[in-house]
Amino acid sequence: MAVALLTLSLVVAERASGSTYRRAVEEGVVAALTPERDLLLEAQPHRGEGMLGFALRFCGERAAMERISKANGDTTRLLVGVSYRIPFSSLRPEWQLRVVRALFGRDYTAASGWYHEIGGRSTYGTESLWHVAEWFTGRGDNYRAIRLENGLPEDELTPGQAVLIPARLLRPALRAALPPDSAYYIEYEEDEEGEYAVYGLKPGEALYSSVVVRFTGRVFADDVNALAGVIASRSGIDRVTAIPIGYKVKIPFELLEPEFLPANHPRRREYEAGLEASSRYRNSVTARRLSGVTVILDSGHGGSDVGASVGDVWESVYVYDVMVRVMELLEAETAAVVKPTMRDGPIHLVADTDVLPASRQHTVLTSPRYLVEDSTVGLHLRWYLANSFMRQARKMAGDSEKVVFLSIHADSLHPSLRGGMAYIPGARYGKDSYGREGLVYASRREVREEPRVTFSGEDLLKSEGLSRELAESLIHAFDARGLAIHPDKPVREKIVREHSEWLPAVLRYNAVPSKVLLEICNLSNSKDLELIQTRAFRQNVAEAIVDGIIAYYGAAGGPESLWVSTSAR
Ligand SMILES: [Zn+2]
Repeated sequence: MAVALLTLSLVVAERASGSTYRRAVEEGVVAALTPERDLLLEAQPHRGEGMLGFALRFCGERAAMERISKANGDTTRLLVGVSYRIPFSSLRPEWQLRVVRALFGRDYTAASGWYHEIGGRSTYGTESLWHVAEWFTGRGDNYRAIRLENGLPEDELTPGQAVLIPARLLRPALRAALPPDSAYYIEYEEDEEGEYAVYGLKPGEALYSSVVVRFTGRVFADDVNALAGVIASRSGIDRVTAIPIGYKVKIPFELLEPEFLPANHPRRREYEAGLEASSRYRNSVTARRLSGVTVILDSGHGGSDVGASVGDVWESVYVYDVMVRVMELLEAETAAVVKPTMRDGPIHLVADTDVLPASRQHTVLTSPRYLVEDSTVGLHLRWYLANSFMRQARKMAGDSEKVVFLSIHADSLHPSLRGGMAYIPGARYGKDSYGREGLVYASRREVREEPRVTFSGEDLLKSEGLSRELAESLIHAFDARGLAIHPDKPVREKIVREHSEWLPAVLRYNAVPSKVLLEICNLSNSKDLELIQTRAFRQNVAEAIVDGIIAYYGAAGGPESLWVSTSAR
């Protein structure tokens, strides 16, 4: 028991004392940190300012009126001279930054991210790494990534210690405070051609990876090359391989990913509102050794659809091997029920060679089975099968949160990119109802059980929230095992290619709430291509996947499960 307590102890000292810590931001506006370790703004209305004006001033949107009212005992009328609470997550980005600045006066920023000084009793009270993650990244479960980044031993966090929150993880509102030498420092300007962001290239950076991939979200080689051309000509660059350091690269607004637009831009606001809505859904289920959990495992493509290929290396063959390794590990080390969607040959077998033999014999395990000849049929039958597994699991466990779906792929992106990346179902790319027709479908039991799948708006939001949590857990497990991860945005809500954005069908029509399509590496990158042709890499990936699923069911419950007071040790 003592050991179990120690591994959970992220806390500095004793629990916080009972009072709220307050710091003035400006006249009539105070930043507050509650005993529950929530950030707040407390503000007084101006004379003559109604609820709408107040909501717009601090939150920038009418919809915040309801949240402010709820946070203040359902009040609908504001009185001059009285302070009202505004939840941190509802604040406009600039107010979020001011709250954090006011409360944590000893913090500082650097190119690599935000340095936060751990509080002691003499400052604003004790905190856990979960709180730090929640305040600075918007997600408590990012504490694992922060711990890894700082090389923190599990039970040593001392008041006065500075902890780095990496730039990649920071809330966009706080990223805006990073200095000009940061990889995320951009300014906004406008000329006769329109509005654009300006980014100064740093030593060793290339237009492809440091501008196009980072700020436009494009990853496919054709897209990256095309946009590099557009951005180069917009910026007056003749040769993209000979750009001077510090050169001001111009990225037109329409090419920017929403999180890099100015804080009040409608597209950014819409994106952040979506993030906030989905982040209200968290996995609430814990399962020791994955007891009672069903893991549905899928490997991409297969049969005559080989997926991405470079020379003799077929995605379908290599990701199938990883899937079988994950199956084996789950069966040997956990109590999970494992449901594969695919099989190559009469049984599932881990290949004992580095380079794998070609195969076009993958079948989807519907009843009857389907030897993948038509890739579209193969794709749709998988989600029908997953949905059937889901119904069985729900009958047994009574709980759809005890099911996860994971589709394993390897992609073919711009060669400068390396490592793992996860796609999750962004709610806005979902669909309310869908079904396929035709004999090839109707002849399968799983399709006849439920020919059409339907989703409510809440289903889609919940799925985005849970899937993001699962994906981050998987990506973190990659990182912790020394496997490369995509440097800028390893978890993505959509695929972007040639000006369209969509979700892979295997996620879009899949009824399992927690679902991820995991790209384990980039076959177009020579290092990744070399690695995937080794058993050691594939086994390491499989182990990381199992770690990630176990972690997803391990640390639910938020900060409370991480608090351990010194007196209890
Ligand atoms: Zn694929």
